[in-house]
Amino acid sequence: MLEIVSLIRLVFLFGCLVIQFFKDLSIKVKLTLVIMLSSFVLLVIISSIVLVTEIYTIRTTLTQEMRVLASSLSENSRQSLVLGKYSEIDTLFASLIHQNNIHAAYFFDSDGVPVAEYLQQHDSRFVLQALQSDFKEAHKSFWIDSTAEKLFSDFKHFSLFTPVFYDGRRIGTLYLLSDLNRIYGHLSVVIFGMIFSLMVMIFLSWLLAGRLQKPVSDPLLQLAGLMEDVSQNKNYSVRAEKVNGDEIGTLVEGFNRMLKQIELHQASLAGHQLYLEQTVSDRTAELRTAVTALEQARQQADTANEAKSHFLSRMTHELRTPLIGVLGMNELLTRTSLTVQQQELVNTVQKSGEQLLYLISDVLDFSRIEAGKLQLESSVFDLLQVVQDVGDLLSLQAQTKELSLLIDIPSNVTWKVKADETRIRQILVNLIGNSIKFTSKGSISVSLNCLKCSDSNGTFVFEVTDSGIGMSAEVKQQIFDVFYQVDGTGAGAKSGTGLGLAIVKQLVDLMGGELNLFSTPGQGSRFQVTVDLPLVEEIVLQKGDC
Ligand code: ADP
Repeated sequence: MLEIVSLIRLVFLFGCLVIQFFKDLSIKVKLTLVIMLSSFVLLVIISSIVLVTEIYTIRTTLTQEMRVLASSLSENSRQSLVLGKYSEIDTLFASLIHQNNIHAAYFFDSDGVPVAEYLQQHDSRFVLQALQSDFKEAHKSFWIDSTAEKLFSDFKHFSLFTPVFYDGRRIGTLYLLSDLNRIYGHLSVVIFGMIFSLMVMIFLSWLLAGRLQKPVSDPLLQLAGLMEDVSQNKNYSVRAEKVNGDEIGTLVEGFNRMLKQIELHQASLAGHQLYLEQTVSDRTAELRTAVTALEQARQQADTANEAKSHFLSRMTHELRTPLIGVLGMNELLTRTSLTVQQQELVNTVQKSGEQLLYLISDVLDFSRIEAGKLQLESSVFDLLQVVQDVGDLLSLQAQTKELSLLIDIPSNVTWKVKADETRIRQILVNLIGNSIKFTSKGSISVSLNCLKCSDSNGTFVFEVTDSGIGMSAEVKQQIFDVFYQVDGTGAGAKSGTGLGLAIVKQLVDLMGGELNLFSTPGQGSRFQVTVDLPLVEEIVLQKGDC
């Protein structure tokens, strides 16, 4: 059982392999194989039918011949058997020498005792094997008391037991043994003929297949070649030729229809592409013209701006020189003997002149920064001292508004830095000045701390905090723009130029620092400047030193 299952598995596996192999073959080979295989199978079936019919016919003929021979022998020996003249039967048997296929013959009397014998000496081994097979103990009744004919055959021999009757009484049994050489001889001729016709058939079917598969495979191969050509060269104008009106013809028609549609799509795409390319090229040209125009405008604006900065710089410089002369002369005038009214007038001239000089200086500074002409100076100075000095300078201004100005700086340390002292002063003056300007009550505090002080460098944070009017988020965004002033900020607004914070921002940027603003309307503002400066010396004083 197990062997059968594994055999079925093996056959199944082999079948799968054959199918797989068949699947990958070309259509041409497939069709040829199918036609040849069909012819082969057909011929094998026909040959098998012929073979079986032949075997049956020869066997029937042989049986008939054996029966006729047995009947003739029985007829001729009946008398001798009744009379016990067995030698006559031997003589009769001697005539069997002419029957090549008869190898042995026996006559048994009614008790089953052999009374006459014929043995052909040609193939004694065959005779021995056949007799052993026929005269088995189990067959004993056939030659002792059977009244019916018995036929035996295997692949090698054919034998017949025929009972002999006299007056309706069984008087003995005749046994005849024949070979099957005639059957095999005939069969070998038939098989040879079949093999020959099979080979002829295979050859003819191969020739026929070559002719028959063409109408199927040729259009398919042509279609496949065309598809390859279309996919490689993207040439959608080609068409397949419709030869047959069958399914392949329908396939060819469908393929041609598909090609036509792709061709139409391609044409419409090409049109779109052309249009897009043209549009892109037009837009690019327009863009180029616009860019050129813009570049020209920018150059003109740069030139105009440069001219403006140059003009401003020259003008303010030219204005400063006579103004300083006027202020100098006015100061000399104050030292002369004047009446009280004259003294007041001269003081007003001095104050107005100083304010004008301050404004002109702002404009000059800004125009220099904008023109990129402002260079930072570098000198070694005490940073804390600068904060203290600016605080002292502006404390009088704060006092006149009854504001307290607190200078919150470390007292046990000295930071000697290398930087532009004047510009740091200017930053502080502008920030503290603004705080005083925009605060009506409360206090202003100024602080300086070193965030990160190393041997050669320090990150310093200046903070100016006031309790003034503060500003909204919107104002905070524009406050560092040039000439920006908030409307309705009171008296302070009148005395400014809107340049102070813009200058502070530019200076902090020039120093590579950062300027931050924290402010809430009505609650005050805090300006924070963070800047890295080269630290020349840091002296930390002990408690006793103070
Ligand atoms: P100005 O010469 O007008 O002071 P600034 O550039 O210094 O010009 O300041 C621009 C504007 O920013 C000021 O007009 C004011 O409205 C606002 N501002 C500056 N500092 C403060 C401050 N500490 N508190 C409130 N508003 C301020």
